[in-house]
Amino acid sequence: MSIQTNLEHIKSSLPQNVTLVAVSKTKPVSDLMEAYEAGQRIFGENKIQEMAEKWEVMPKDIQWHMIGHVQTNKVKFMAQFVSLIHGVDSLKLLKEINKQALKNNRVIDCLLQIHIADEETKFGLDEEELNTILNSPELNEMKNIRIVGLMGMATFTDKQNQIKKEFTNLKSIFEKLQPLNTKNCQLNTLSMGMSGDYQLAIECGSTMVRIGSSIFGGRK
Ligand SMILES: *Cc1c(COP(=O)(O)O)cnc(C)c1O
Repeated sequence: MSIQTNLEHIKSSLPQNVTLVAVSKTKPVSDLMEAYEAGQRIFGENKIQEMAEKWEVMPKDIQWHMIGHVQTNKVKFMAQFVSLIHGVDSLKLLKEINKQALKNNRVIDCLLQIHIADEETKFGLDEEELNTILNSPELNEMKNIRIVGLMGMATFTDKQNQIKKEFTNLKSIFEKLQPLNTKNCQLNTLSMGMSGDYQLAIECGSTMVRIGSSIFGGRK
């Protein structure tokens, strides 16, 4: 099936309040352009350099989401254009994003990544670390970032029950934070769900799904 057909199929199954991030990592610009021509404007990449290269050559009305793990020393390469950073997992990284956003005279939106999976390898904060960041006096001083929600990845497993439990857990952490509404924290986005589990994620309250292979085909 074509990229356009895949996109149309997925979009027709998404509720109105759910945003689709087309995950285009490893795919050539020609594939991204096919999605663009079909109306897609939000793309997700997991490597800063690859995202910057695509940003340079593609139409400027695209919103670029960084969905991968971010190294502090690379923030400067995307600060000029990135529209949402999904994988923020430390105060140190937030500080650097704030600093680079200021240099570019921008406010950069961020999601805090929560560790919900069984695997040790997936990045993210636990609830205590999350609260430490949100309650930190330094956060108040950061005028060039805005925390707009949470992101999480479920365990890579076929066990639907387990995935559901992990998504439900993330949703409940998100709900608990809801009264939070300060100048630079307005939590309205819950980024969870990929090709294999996005329907389940939506049932569990996701408002943003990150879908790659179901749109662009498998990656090597
Ligand atoms: C690659 C990736 C996705 C998309 O995965 P698919 O299974 O291809 O849909 C979503 N989120 C993150 C963080 C990723 O790295």
